Formats: sequence, C-alpha cells, structure tokens
Amino acid sequence: MLQLKNISKSYTTGSFTQTALNDVSLDFRKNEFVAILGPSGSGKTTCLNIIGGLDQYDSGDLVINGASTKAFKDSDWDAYRNNSVGFIFQSYNLISHLSITDNVEMGMTLSGVSADIKHRKAVEALEKVGLKDHIHKKPGQLSGGQMQRVAIARALANDPDIILADEPTGALDTVTSEQIMELIKEIAKDKLVVMVTHNPELAEAYADRIVQFRDGKVISDTNPPADLKTNANYQLKKTAMSYFTALKLSGKNISTKKWRTALTAFASSIGIIGIALILSLSNGFDKQISSYESGALSNFPVTISETAAQIDMSNPPGAQMEEADKKWTEFTDAAEVYPYDPTANTVLHTNELSQEYLDYLDKIDHALLDGVSYSRKVNMNILRSDGETAVPVDTASLNFTTYPDKPAGTEGSYLADYYDLLAGSLPEQPTDLVMVVDEYNRMNQSILEALGFDYNAANVSFDDVVGREFKLIYNDDYYTEADGMFKLNGNAANLSEMYNSANAVTLKISGIIRKQQDSPMSTMSAGIAYSDSLAEQFIKNAQGSAIVQAQEQQDQVNVLTGKVFSQIGGVDMSGMQMGMGMGMGGSSASTDPGNANSQEAALAALGAVATPSSISLYPKDFGAKENLVAYLDKWNDNHSKEEMIVYTDLAAMVTSLSSGIMDGITMVLIAFASISLVVSLIMIGIITYISVLERTKEIGVLRALGARKKDITRVFNAETCIIGSLSGLLGIGIAYLLTIPVNIILKSITDLSNVAQLNPLHAFGLVVLSVGLTMLGGFIPAKFAAKKDPVVALRSE
Ligand code: ADP
Ligand code: MG
Repeated sequence: MLQLKNISKSYTTGSFTQTALNDVSLDFRKNEFVAILGPSGSGKTTCLNIIGGLDQYDSGDLVINGASTKAFKDSDWDAYRNNSVGFIFQSYNLISHLSITDNVEMGMTLSGVSADIKHRKAVEALEKVGLKDHIHKKPGQLSGGQMQRVAIARALANDPDIILADEPTGALDTVTSEQIMELIKEIAKDKLVVMVTHNPELAEAYADRIVQFRDGKVISDTNPPADLKTNANYQLKKTAMSYFTALKLSGKNISTKKWRTALTAFASSIGIIGIALILSLSNGFDKQISSYESGALSNFPVTISETAAQIDMSNPPGAQMEEADKKWTEFTDAAEVYPYDPTANTVLHTNELSQEYLDYLDKIDHALLDGVSYSRKVNMNILRSDGETAVPVDTASLNFTTYPDKPAGTEGSYLADYYDLLAGSLPEQPTDLVMVVDEYNRMNQSILEALGFDYNAANVSFDDVVGREFKLIYNDDYYTEADGMFKLNGNAANLSEMYNSANAVTLKISGIIRKQQDSPMSTMSAGIAYSDSLAEQFIKNAQGSAIVQAQEQQDQVNVLTGKVFSQIGGVDMSGMQMGMGMGMGGSSASTDPGNANSQEAALAALGAVATPSSISLYPKDFGAKENLVAYLDKWNDNHSKEEMIVYTDLAAMVTSLSSGIMDGITMVLIAFASISLVVSLIMIGIITYISVLERTKEIGVLRALGARKKDITRVFNAETCIIGSLSGLLGIGIAYLLTIPVNIILKSITDLSNVAQLNPLHAFGLVVLSVGLTMLGGFIPAKFAAKKDPVVALRSE
C-alpha cells in the first residue's frame, strides 16, 4: 500500500546540515496501527510529514499503491494530502475562529464536497469521536481531549486511507490519552494509522507494530510486512477552494477582530471620503457653473450688426494698434498737434444683411437657441420744430432703430431687464421714443445735432431731453405728385404747416436709458430707439402711400428724382454707404429716397420695408454656441470677403476663462486626497502582513488538509477584499453624510444650495477603487503567505 524506499532528508540552516532521515525504508500494510518510537530529534515527525506529503524527501522514493511520487507536482501533493491522508497533531491545530463542524468540514470544503453531504459526514465523524453534544461549540470552548477528538474527526471526515498522528496524546492526561488511543485503535481497523509517540507503554498496549527510530534511521521493526499487495489504479481528486469558501473563512476571521477591522476600514476610508467629497463638490460647482453659464449666455448673444470690426486673424487688432502707435511718442517735446483719426486702425466691415442671409439664419437648428432678437429700422419722415420753423430730422444720423424685444421664451421686457432708466419713463405708448446713451452718458454729437440740441455745449440736461417732441409725417402728406413724378411737399412754411397739421403723429422722448453695469450685453448702441409697433404702423401706412405704389410700378427710375437706377455689380451702393454711416455713429449719410440707386433701396428709403439693423442670437449653452458659431462660419466659408458676415461673440472670452478652471482645481485636490489613499495602501499591506503572521498556523493546517498555494492567496485576498469593500462603503457613507453639513455651510456662505452632490457612479467607482487598492496592498503579503512551507507553518506557535 505505502512504501518508503531509501528516503533521506536533511535540513540545512546556515552552514550546518542536520540529517533528519538517513536512508529509511519502510513498507506499510493497508490496515494496521503502526507506532513510531524514538528519542526526540530522531526524525519521527520528519518521517510522518514525508509520508503525509507535507514535506518533500531529498532522495529515495515514496511509493503509493505502487505508484512513484518522484514526478509529483505541487497539485498532486495537495490532492494526495486532501484525499488520502488525515493528520492528527499533538497541539490539535484547530482553526480557532471556525466552529468545530466547520473545522471538521474543511478538508471536504477544499475538495468541493456539497454542503449537505459535507455537513452530514462531519456530524457522523463528530458522533464517532463522541462529540455529538458539542457540535455547535467553538474549539476554545472544549477541553484538550475534546479538541483532539475534533482533530481526529477532522482527519476521518474525508475518509482517507492513511491517518498520521504525531504524538496525539502528548498534551493529554493518562485517562484521556487512553480514551484517545482506543479511538485511534478503532479507526485502525480499516485504515493505515501511523502514530508517533514517545510513550512505549501506550505503543505496546495499542499498536500492531512498533518501529524504532534513532538518529534518522530505523533500528527495529516488530512486524514488517512480508509481501505487499498493490492496487495500481490509484486516482487522486484535485482540490480547489472556492472563492466563497475563501470569503467565508476570511469573514469569520475578520469577525473575531471587529475593532481592528473597523479601525482599519475607517483609516483607509479617509482617502475615499476625501475624494468623494471633492468629486461631489466639483460635481455641484460644475452644475452651478454651467447653470450660471447658461444664465450668463442669455446675456451674451452672438450679435450680427450692420457693421463690425473686422477681426483679421493674420493681422489682429492689437498688432495693428501697436504698429499705429509707433508713429507717436509718449509725452513728446514736439511743439505740434497731430491730427488723429481713432477709427483709422479699426477695419470696419459692412455686413450685408441680405434676404438670402436672413433665410440662411432662419434655417439654423432652433434647438441651439434660447431665442433671437432683432432690431430693425424703418425710414420715417420726421420733423422737429423750434416753435416757429420746422425742419426734417435726418434719421440716418440718429441711429434710429427699434429696440429689440426679449428673445422668445424669456420673460420680462428687454429695456427693463437690460437697461437702467436714467430719466423719464420707459416707453409705454407706441409713439414713445427712448434715448440710449453709452456707459459714459455720451451721445454722438451728430445725433444731438439732428435732434436739435446745442451739440457744442459741454452737456445737455436730462430735463431738456425728456419730453422733447417730434412729428411723424406720413408719405402722402410729405410728398406730392405732379405729372407722375413726386416731390417734397412745398417749402419751409409748408413744413411748419405739416408739423402742426392734425395728420402729424406726435413722437415723444419718454426717457433716457443706459446699459446696466453688470449686464455685459445690451445690443443697442447710443441713439434713439422706438417701438416695433411704431415701425409696423409706419410701414403699413407707407405701403399704401401714393409714392410707394408709384415706385413699386417703376423699377427703372427713381420716382422722386427721375434718375435711372444704376447698380454696380449687384451691390446697392447707397445701402452700403448708409450702413457705414450707421456704424461710424452717424457721419450723416443720407436716407434721402432721392439718393436711392435701386427700386429696392428707394422703397426702403420711403419706409415701405424695414431693414434689419442687428440680429442677436442667444445660444442655449456653450456647446450650442459652438455649433451656432460653426453654422455662421459655414456661410463665410462659402462667400467672398465682401459678402462675409462678421459677428461679435462676446461670450468667447468668458468661455475660455471659465472652462477648465474647475477641472484643474478638482485634479489638484484629488491628487492631495490620493496621498491618503497611498498611505492606506501601505497600511493595508502591513495589516495583511500581520494577519499572515497571526494565521501562520492556520496556513499550515489548511495546507495539511490539501489547500493549494493559490487557495492560501485567495484566503488573504478575500480578507483584503472584505476590508476594501468595508472601507469603500464606509467612506462613501461618511462622505454622503458629510455633504449635508457641507451644503449647510456653503449655503450660509455662498447662498448656493445643494452644491455637494455625490454622483452614484462616482460612489460606485470609489468603492471599486478602494477594493482594488486594498487588494493591491494585501497582494504581496498574501503571496508571501502562500509561499510558507507548511511544515514550518505548523511548527510555528
Ligand atoms: P522528532 O520528531 O523525532 O523529535 P524531528 O523529525 O522533528 O524529530 O527532527 C529531526 C531532526 O531534524 C532534528 O534534529 C531537528 O532539529 C531537525 N529538523 C527538523 N525539522 C527541521 C527544520 N525545519 N529545519 C531544521 N532542522 C530541522
Ligand atoms: Mg517530533
């Protein structure tokens, strides 16, 4: 059945080599009770460990059922120990944190026996050793004899062929020893029992055969077998510990060290808490910023006006200015005054807001926009009077446009929301005009001149402005027909008549407004603005007027002057000139219909159509703005330089500033919090290492029961996995609770509510991170545990 053939084994410690076994040859029968006697240090334990596959021989062979073990791999030895051998140790070697049934079941657990069979067999084995009534106890609650009985039950439970007992009664009193010997003798009826003892009386009394050892050699054998029957078909069932078993083992171990585990988990959760809080804060601030951004963006439209400063990327404005400024020196001593045109270095581009372009804008994806607002202009006939004489007001000089309405979908009034009222009241009637001044309360001289103020004065009182009246004269009163042609209705006297006639509509400046200080966007430039309904009213009237109807019939000749229209390259020169004038703040280009060079221009000059003067597109958010701008750029890509539409993107600067700042801050903070993660990584490594040291005996027992190296690694990985999950969950829980006071504090400081919000995805990620890092920290100690020599492990205290 089992043969030792010329087995030798020696241990080398340092330069000293101790021979433990010296050419030992022994044969064993299938069933017999062999006692090995010998003085201490004679090699008995070493022999037993070699028989049990716990220790490896240096030379010779161990033959099991006729099969040599020379070619055995680690896994074969593991399986051999698990299937064929049951160990009984002097110091019982029970795993103290497992119940006695779990202890007895362990060998079967390792070979994957199902739970109910395992349990039945364990209970049977415990009954057999007389512990029926103690099944639910833990090893610590038993006497020495009872513990040894548990160890015997454990050795028997997996029904091995060989039971190896190393001084099983060494720690027991005489009476208990005899009971244990009886038990072992009983077992030996159908198994091979090899028992080491230094008690010759016990050996004599119970064993069938006594082998004497001395100095690593067999010196006597009372009953060696004559011949051996061998059974060649020897099969071993490989063992493997399931992950669940590993978890259960570690879980039970951890539960015996609750405080240590709790403190470890808490300490290593601190990094997780830090990161979770930082993430939840940056989460919240991100949300706040993006809601602020979308709020701010409604004040930052992309604006298309009739004129725009051309931004030429190959020649940016800054560079131009620098170049221009070089002509003059600061604080010069020269006795000269230099003529200077401040607009000379700004390249102005005229945006031709053609119908085609307006249609193009109309086709924009409306999901990108919060709204669109237009301001437009209508040429009206306006008179002012100093009480005696009335004169026409040159509306081209006035920057005379409608004030935009608020973008659709937003509430409130454009003027009330984006402008401060400086004097008077906001327009209430359609005939109320409003004066828009710039942030310095400035007003272009030419506008003041056109309105009849003394533009040379240092200042103009608000009181002089508010309440000032003008008269709107409809076309049919303004022009008279003679022989199919039209002319201005009469002379200066007639203008006064017109001014005072009942048909004249009184327009009144109701108030003065200025853009709000922190509302960075107000699309109106300084000038006089009027309501859309006034524009509608005039257009409607103009379209019914005789002069407009006559002009509509006539597409070759200007009905006012009789001049033939001339156009250059399809571009309406007068329109262009007009646009330039507006942009320059009223360099008095005329809106006189007499100057119109096309039918279209003439109709516009007669107030029959409105022309857009500026369009403001309000994007939904930054992403939408990018798409919007891309859409506008697409037009420019497909058109010539003249037809290009230059827009003003006020948000661009803000965008580049605010995006990324939050990300940067978050990264830095996380880097700091990660330091505590590294610290906990090291700590977990140390704790696991301590645990490995503490559980060395357990490692030895598990190996003796057939656990593979892998299984040992698994047990410790399971332990770190549990600690990692605990610390991750604890960290997330604490971080979640901390967001409550953090939000209260932030609310009181910044008035922002619910800033800190823990994203569930982040929470999950952090638990995974915690498990991963903890397992990483425990990995090396776990590997170290697996490498432990089972013999050394079992010898350890
Ligand atoms: P016994 O069980 O008969 O008392 P052992 O088999 O334990 O003796 O030991 C035999 C000899 O081998 C002893 O001299 C012991 O010191 C030595 N020995 C046993 N195990 C080791 C080991 N792991 N390292 C070094 N020497 C060892
Ligand atoms: Mg010994």
